[in-house]
Amino acid sequence: VAGRTPLIAGNWKMNLDHLQAVAFVQKLHWTLKDAKHEDGSVEVAVFPPFTDLRTVQTLLDADKIPFALGAQDLSAHDSGAYTGEISGAFLAKLDAKYVIIGHSERRQYHEETDEIVGSKVKAALKHGLVPVICVGETSEDLEKFGASAVPVSQLSVALEGLKADADIVVAYEPVWAIGSGQAATPEQAQDVCAKLREVIGEKLGADAAARTRVLYGGSVKSANIASFMREPDVDGALVGGASLVVDEFAAIIRYQK
Ligand code: PEP
Repeated sequence: VAGRTPLIAGNWKMNLDHLQAVAFVQKLHWTLKDAKHEDGSVEVAVFPPFTDLRTVQTLLDADKIPFALGAQDLSAHDSGAYTGEISGAFLAKLDAKYVIIGHSERRQYHEETDEIVGSKVKAALKHGLVPVICVGETSEDLEKFGASAVPVSQLSVALEGLKADADIVVAYEPVWAIGSGQAATPEQAQDVCAKLREVIGEKLGADAAARTRVLYGGSVKSANIASFMREPDVDGALVGGASLVVDEFAAIIRYQK
């Protein structure tokens, strides 16, 4: 972690409508607040579906709840004839800080290539959003090329043409570990996260490598979060399933206390 504020990010995927989101965020806030946990030593971010963003923004603002807001995707375009797409400008106007880009489910079900991911990263930065760039190998990739080759090449393309001061987050999410209950070992996560940090260094320079948070994602839960967070190049977690259960997500956020 070395000076980087840990980030615990909850990717809700296509779960919780805007009314359920209100109940969930309030409950999470109160669970953490009772335990005096919102002291800023860990940054918490929630990534609801697009249709919840306005409601969650209003709630965070009104109740001064210190969670950052993020979206799960954005369009590579600013505006225009792109039916069904959401512009980064709209997300920025809703006070979204983060946007997930290149999640394996987008790569798999929506055929997002490394080049599309790269153009979305640029669109996010253009609108002042911090892209959470997801990379990771499938089990076939793992067998054929080992763990790091695919994520390293995905990240190299995603960072192409960015400036040294680009504010980004990288998430290493082995596809075989997502939603499977079979997390990577802390050593595996450390190894790939360290290699991804090297890519950041090669593409954006040493300052960016030292500053940028690299998260691990894939079957993170309260029982394994501390073991990942002990690794020097793991700066937080991108959490799917366990981010939808208040007590479990709160326990993940409290990992080190
Ligand atoms: C994810 O989809 O980003 C993820 C990490 O999911 P899960 O925690 O459910 O494995």
